[in-house]
Amino acid sequence: ISIGRYWSDRKREERLENQFSLRPIELRSDETVRGVTGLIGNTPLMRINSLSDALGVEILGKAEFLNPGGSIKDRVALRMIEDAERQGLLHPHTGSRIFEGTVGSTGISIATIAKARGYDTTIIMPDDVAEEKVKALQSLGADVQRVRPASIVDKKQYVNMARQAAIRFGRPDVLDQTEGANISHEMLTGSPSVVVTTTSSHVHTGGTVDDPRDEELLTKPRGFFADQFENRSNFDAHYEGTGPEIWRQTNEKLAAFISGAGTGGTIAGTGQYIKSMDDRVKVVLADPEGSGLYNKVKFGVLYDRKESEGTKRRHQVDTVVEGIGINRMTNNIDLALPVIDQAFRITDVEAVAMSRYLVQHDGLFLGSSSACNLVACIKLVQQMGWKEGQTIVTILCDSGSRHYSKFWNDDYLKRANIPIDKTIIADLIKKA
Ligand code: PMP
Repeated sequence: ISIGRYWSDRKREERLENQFSLRPIELRSDETVRGVTGLIGNTPLMRINSLSDALGVEILGKAEFLNPGGSIKDRVALRMIEDAERQGLLHPHTGSRIFEGTVGSTGISIATIAKARGYDTTIIMPDDVAEEKVKALQSLGADVQRVRPASIVDKKQYVNMARQAAIRFGRPDVLDQTEGANISHEMLTGSPSVVVTTTSSHVHTGGTVDDPRDEELLTKPRGFFADQFENRSNFDAHYEGTGPEIWRQTNEKLAAFISGAGTGGTIAGTGQYIKSMDDRVKVVLADPEGSGLYNKVKFGVLYDRKESEGTKRRHQVDTVVEGIGINRMTNNIDLALPVIDQAFRITDVEAVAMSRYLVQHDGLFLGSSSACNLVACIKLVQQMGWKEGQTIVTILCDSGSRHYSKFWNDDYLKRANIPIDKTIIADLIKKA
């Protein structure tokens, strides 16, 4: 190694040390936390060495897979339950039950936290969801009900079924008060997008909450529909948690924040917080194939080419990437759109390539949405022409171990005609 190279490496190291000497934050290592919920949040930022070294731009991942329920959704589940308790909608150890319609990690997070706080859980999901997810939920003591896949406008769609089940759990005489107002949603139903009406959130049953001191109501079992898509607590978990943590951990020096959107809670809450601190920070959406959001950001309408060609199932995001992408508007997506500066469409082939690349170079075994986010990081660096000094933060939502049946199943990928080609990432990096 030449002296010149040695010194430039040393300088670079020192600069990085200064930039990233993390201020002390409430990390978990030297404190005893109270139970499983004490482990939620305050996740470290991890430098993705292979990509950062190759690009000269710091690519940092928020290690959300370290949450006790295995994903970023722990933050949201905890916040939804705590907010419901604060509003008097849930009381622990009263036989109350939390209902949610979810195919993803949210069910696992709710089931985990519910048990820790004295509630039961019912999760309703389509019957084509991987068996391993059902097993995980059942192991956590959740009642799992599987229904036929259906459109969100159908009463038998799993989110609508969860809402109805929460209502049925309570007294029939409160049905009318709790069904909520009708709200309009734009959704993709082929091309172009149309507006449909569905029922709003915050169903709670088992009595009204006019007087939270009412002894009878305090001990009565309640049904609570968590409704992550519409529930503001989802946004707040990130606006008050994920966002401030990232801001502090990067010493307030951040060029961009990149995230996918499933409910939109992460990008809306984190993005809005970061923009409120410095509106020059770019907030960037990583959108998988089959999702209409990319076009919503770019052109103002939900639109997807595959969908409009009529080859795929309506209203469902057709991709091997799980957890992100959506074809309808929700409260949390509404909160996200104003802060999104840029969007990238990430193909299944790119996401798969990235996941294998990260195992090979970094020993990092990540889920599909994390892989999408990291592909978008390279695309942003390329588009902005960034060469060195900038910091990009993205979310590492969950680990690969949640994805054995599809994304990490080579046979499945072969059947789906998705090649596994790690050279794609090296080529993307070269172009950047
Ligand atoms: N990644 C994974 C694995 C997820 O399950 C989810 C939530 N559906 C997301 C990312 C997206 O998060 P959000 O719902 O906040 O948009």
